[in-house]
Amino acid sequence: MIHEILPVGPLQCNCSIIGDETTREAMVIDPGDEIQTILALVRKHNLQVKQIVITHAHIDHVGGAMKLRAATGAPILLNQNDYDLLKMLDVQAAWIGMPSPGKVDIDQNLGPADTVKAGSLTANVLLTPGHTQGSICLYFPTEKKLIAGDTLFAGSIGRTDLPGGSFEKIIHSLHHKLLTLPDETLVIPGHGPTTTIGQEREHNPFLKT
Ligand SMILES: [Zn+2]
Repeated sequence: MIHEILPVGPLQCNCSIIGDETTREAMVIDPGDEIQTILALVRKHNLQVKQIVITHAHIDHVGGAMKLRAATGAPILLNQNDYDLLKMLDVQAAWIGMPSPGKVDIDQNLGPADTVKAGSLTANVLLTPGHTQGSICLYFPTEKKLIAGDTLFAGSIGRTDLPGGSFEKIIHSLHHKLLTLPDETLVIPGHGPTTTIGQEREHNPFLKT
């Protein structure tokens, strides 16, 4: 598995480039910004981007998706419960003083029964509402790797005070979806350092009940 983790944009969203070493097929997760840097890494590994996956419709995660689609032809995938939030990108841009990226078109809804693939690499879509209504995480069972979006961070969890946020829902998602994963699962949060499910199960103050 080729896996590049690249913090992009002013909020340093962790963008992941995941590629199959044999077929060179790839997916890019959360291309919030810095599309030229992302494309340079794609070229460096001689990859072909087949899917653009968005964990949730916040501007720092989705802002560069249209540019990446224009450059690669790959479809953009997002859970439909975040489509309303996606219509608010102008408002979101004003919150953080960024120029608006314009309208983002979604090519395909990602539901809880879906999988996303890059060559032989497969991830299950986990619907984890709470940070936003349509937040998802991606779990690669063979590699025991979780792309967590803004649902789980090292030592913390996603904020729930923005439109569509719910503290009850994120706690439910964490306990019923993420904490059912094996302790050795490597977690790549939407911001900040990587961690493991075991580490967070033991030390994350939000996961103690
Ligand atoms: Zn977010």
